[in-house]
Amino acid sequence: MILDLSINFSYLISAIFFVFGLKLLGSPKSAARGNLISAIGMLIAIVATLISKQIIDYTWIIIGIIIGSVIGIIAAKKVLMTSMPQMVALLNGFGGLASLLVGWAIFYNNFQIDSFTATTIFLSILIGGVTFTGSMIAWAKLSAVIRSKAILYSGQMIINSALLLALIVFGIIFAIYPETSYSYLIYIIIGSLLLGILSVIPIGGADMPVVISLLNSYSGIAACASGFVIKNNVLIVSGALVGASGIILTTIMCKAMNRSLANVLFSGFGAVKTRAKTDEKKEVKAISAKDAYFVLEAAKSVVIVPGYGLAVANAQHVVKELADLLEENGADVKFAIHPVAGRMPGHMNVLLAEADVSYDKLIEMDDINRIIDTIDVCLVIGANDVVNTSARDDESSPMYGMPIIEVDKAKNVFILKRSMASGFAGIANPLFYKENSSMIFSDAKKTLSEIIEEF
Ligand code: NDP
Repeated sequence: MILDLSINFSYLISAIFFVFGLKLLGSPKSAARGNLISAIGMLIAIVATLISKQIIDYTWIIIGIIIGSVIGIIAAKKVLMTSMPQMVALLNGFGGLASLLVGWAIFYNNFQIDSFTATTIFLSILIGGVTFTGSMIAWAKLSAVIRSKAILYSGQMIINSALLLALIVFGIIFAIYPETSYSYLIYIIIGSLLLGILSVIPIGGADMPVVISLLNSYSGIAACASGFVIKNNVLIVSGALVGASGIILTTIMCKAMNRSLANVLFSGFGAVKTRAKTDEKKEVKAISAKDAYFVLEAAKSVVIVPGYGLAVANAQHVVKELADLLEENGADVKFAIHPVAGRMPGHMNVLLAEADVSYDKLIEMDDINRIIDTIDVCLVIGANDVVNTSARDDESSPMYGMPIIEVDKAKNVFILKRSMASGFAGIANPLFYKENSSMIFSDAKKTLSEIIEEF
């Protein structure tokens, strides 16, 4: 009795730590502290669970901890900043698989369960299964193991809806007659794994980060359902927190792209190669790093717009060095961050924080757009879609309506990239052909180092 009470009290403390941790994660300044507080909360939850008397043998737990820690440490050390979304997809997927296995194991050990427990087992398996295979497909698309384009065929929505409906019917039968419905549970396991695959293949690679965020939410909801299955309060609370924060993040990402979640999930964005109206008869203006230096040297205000290419080029430290030099030279320097620049929310913030760029140098999209016509030079470093003017000017563009950083309104725009290739969404960028735009073709780190040398 006292043991149960103190375990539940510890769970309450860890839940409080999780909530405070999440709150602090809301700002770059306090994020590291938030992470630490959440980790302490998790440690308390784990220790409390380990002393619970439900555990009668520690052997498998210790084996699991050793194998999991070794894999986790190696994976975390090896993962590149550009492969972070794939890593998150894998982690979500395994979370989903764990929930599926917990639900299955609990039923396998005891068929004599009530309808409520059967319902939570059904949900834990259904959502866990979808999360597992859906995340594996997201990982495979992002890692180019399979084609990243949306795979579409006729009747796709009907097949997916019919499968979901069948799973719900099986779930109801299982919840009413759990003792005699083991075969239905097996159908539910197979069907949910299939549903995860079928519902993610029609989504294009460019939308995968949104899908990963949504699957992250699913993994939380699945964990929450498993919490009900094994009657563990902290699993219920933490699963609900992950579920809710994942949904909030998904909504923020959709909003930043000016698209609805339904459009992301069902429109097959990127399946058909589309072209934006560009003035391709016009030549783009290519300049050297030295030419760029002369303009930058005279600039009073410089806005740096980083994108995914900054992460690929690993150019965060050189960009900070250049920003410092520009400031010493008397220019006002700001970093304008688009909410979906890079491949995951906060990607650019993390990169710039790694290079010690101070937070007060960061400026949000709406704030910079208000004053961008007063800026002498916009340095677009490895960004493309987030500055694609077709999103603003071309109603026929699939990107039309997505808010962008309006760098074309600045006095000069220097675009650092290696070629004329389009961005993640695969849509040509009319910005490159504008009068005030100049391309500096090369690896971003190399170009930035050359400009620094000139300084
Ligand atoms: P993009 O993918 O649009 O463009 C990146 C550009 O970087 C490419 O055009 C590429 O051109 C260039 N590049 C790549 N490597 C280098 C290098 N070594 N040196 C210089 N340039 C390089 O990135 P953005 O950040 O502009 O846009 C992000 C995209 O991801 C958007 O489509 C967004 O919707 C999508 N997305 C992002 C999410 C997020 O949370 N951040 C979520 C959902 C979607 P080149 O090959 O010619 O060098």
